Amino acid sequence: MTEGAKDLRVPAVRVRGLWKRFGEQVAVAGIDLELPAGQFIGLVGPNGAGKTTTLSMVTGLLRPDQGTVEVVGHDVWRDPVEVKARIGVLPEGLRLFERLSGRELLAYTGRLRGLPGAEVDKRATQLLDVLDLAGAQHKLVVDYSTGMRKKIGLACALLHNPEILFLDEPFEGVDPVSAQTIRGVLERYTGSGATVVFSSHVMELVESLCDWVAVMAAGRIRAHGPLADVRGSAPSLQHAFLELVGANARSAGTDLDWLGGGAAR
Ligand code: ATP
Repeated sequence: MTEGAKDLRVPAVRVRGLWKRFGEQVAVAGIDLELPAGQFIGLVGPNGAGKTTTLSMVTGLLRPDQGTVEVVGHDVWRDPVEVKARIGVLPEGLRLFERLSGRELLAYTGRLRGLPGAEVDKRATQLLDVLDLAGAQHKLVVDYSTGMRKKIGLACALLHNPEILFLDEPFEGVDPVSAQTIRGVLERYTGSGATVVFSSHVMELVESLCDWVAVMAAGRIRAHGPLADVRGSAPSLQHAFLELVGANARSAGTDLDWLGGGAAR
């Protein structure tokens, strides 16, 4: 293998027997999962399925009760520095240093990542430009909109050119134009052999972006594999998903006989 080439035979992520409980609540119930390298991967599931908890454990933000996680062959909890150098993370409810401007935040992130100043400047200028944030680069992050925060968070996660990018609900609160911009950046990134793992409950989005999906419900993996395999003979991923998570049984509106009809009673 040439220097710098990624070994696609090593899974991007290997999870074994992963558990997390919060008191009585089992958030993640002993999952085993291998995510292939070089793919655009979607982790999908209904609210409360355990997606955020799983991604937090995989990226070293939350310690599992039981089980192991390897990222490109390195144990997340025994070898955190190796792992963190190789990943970029856009967590849910991202907390940013809000009293910095967007450009200052990128400069700070670049220093933390150990990148030379001139390289950080060059990459920051390009990322701000591609993500349509150049006009807001000197504005404080506290004054950014939700979509702008996602985009500057994405820029910070990409700055050190990670092998794997983990994104928790990256399109939530993002307008269609910004969503298209983010898509373009992510597609270019995976086109170069990198891996994206993102969580979402928007099936159309996952279906249009991902090569590979894992479906999660009630803390367990219900299906995983190439998108076409998980979709099977269902007309769309949405249909396959509803079947997998058993949502068809919960027919909408049957108990809400008071709802609608106009008159307040
Ligand atoms: P959503 O799509 O709504 O973001 P999710 O699939 O990301 O949901 P999680 O946030 O991982 O789901 O939550 C899984 C379960 O664990 C839920 O029942 C949630 O209430 C519970 N949970 C998550 N974090 C905590 C916490 N810090 N303390 C207590 N319970 C928690």
